[in-house]
Amino acid sequence: MTQAKTTLIGLTRDELESFARDLGQPDYRGRQLYRWLYARRARRFDEMSDLPTAFRDELTARAEPGCLALGQRSPSAPDGTQKFLFELADGLRIESVHLPESPGQTVCISSQVGCALGCTFCATGRMGFYRDLSAGEIVLQVMEIEQLIGAALTNVVFMGMGEPLHNYENVVKAVRLLTDKDGLGFTPSRITVSTVGIIPAIERWCNDNPPAKLAVSLHATTDERRLRIVPAARAFPLDALMKSLRRLAHVTRYPVTFEYIMIAGLNDRREDAANLRVLLRNIPAKVNLIRLHPTGSGLPPSDDETIHRFMGWLVEEEIDCTLRVSRGVEDSAACGMLFSNEPFRPG
Ligand code: SAH
Ligand code: SF4
Repeated sequence: MTQAKTTLIGLTRDELESFARDLGQPDYRGRQLYRWLYARRARRFDEMSDLPTAFRDELTARAEPGCLALGQRSPSAPDGTQKFLFELADGLRIESVHLPESPGQTVCISSQVGCALGCTFCATGRMGFYRDLSAGEIVLQVMEIEQLIGAALTNVVFMGMGEPLHNYENVVKAVRLLTDKDGLGFTPSRITVSTVGIIPAIERWCNDNPPAKLAVSLHATTDERRLRIVPAARAFPLDALMKSLRRLAHVTRYPVTFEYIMIAGLNDRREDAANLRVLLRNIPAKVNLIRLHPTGSGLPPSDDETIHRFMGWLVEEEIDCTLRVSRGVEDSAACGMLFSNEPFRPG
């Protein structure tokens, strides 16, 4: 019986050293492999010119760099936003989005196939949960998109499918791979992991302090209202969440970004702005307002006039806020619209 090949992308430097050792090679061969795969983005062993031919032949027989099969690539939206559907080895599908000039070259990636948390406004939530992505599947979304667009990416946001902190270990491993100076080389402050607010995982994040920023999906200013749209709010009430985030801001020294989808009558009232001031007391914070993208949830989006009035109230409350430009809505590539139950069509 032939042995399954080892997939190398997703392995750390230590793991590649140990892989090289298993093949009877010195540790530094593992480090060479690491540099070829991540820093130089090589995708074939025969490109790895400083490895001995016999070792390259053995690698070809025993391992593969790793790849994601491109299922579909949407045409570019007028602003350049493009959605990519990838098929995983087990046939499940995920989506990732490229947002050029936003302001850097940003990629929005998935951390799970589906999501178990069922927020009412979110298309991924409605799919249910299939499985976690491996660290390799996470970094490969970035590496494949770089190859497909033929340009280097600068920013990575974990705002695609899934709840990253429900897949803590693989996400943190991917963050470390992405930000290693001798590897993929992304700047830590340009990696953002978005969470619905899983408190025990935020505590773990405070202890580990991985090289990335955390953003939190808040969306409401009282537990009662948050619970109407975010079922996870039952387990993670706002008081406890804010306490944890105060510690996070202190430990990481990054301000916490709060994502806030504008829903008419639910969270766009004058008192919500006042509540926010109280909630965010002593937390260096930025509030990122998001227009509700249509996903068939039946929730009413706040209109533009209300959004701008709400921004004025936030300014009165001395809260730093921005309105996120919605991109890729026509293409179902915008936040919360990623959903991948379509039949697989090779691209
Ligand atoms: N599970 C994580 C990350 C993925 S969702 C989280 O919830 O933060 C990424 C962002 O898209 C979140 O802020 C989420 O609230 C937002 N989002 C989900 N559905 C949306 C919709 N219909 N319109 C606008 N934003 C949405
Ligand atoms: Fe999951 Fe985030 Fe969607 Fe909620 S918004 S269902 S946590 S992916």
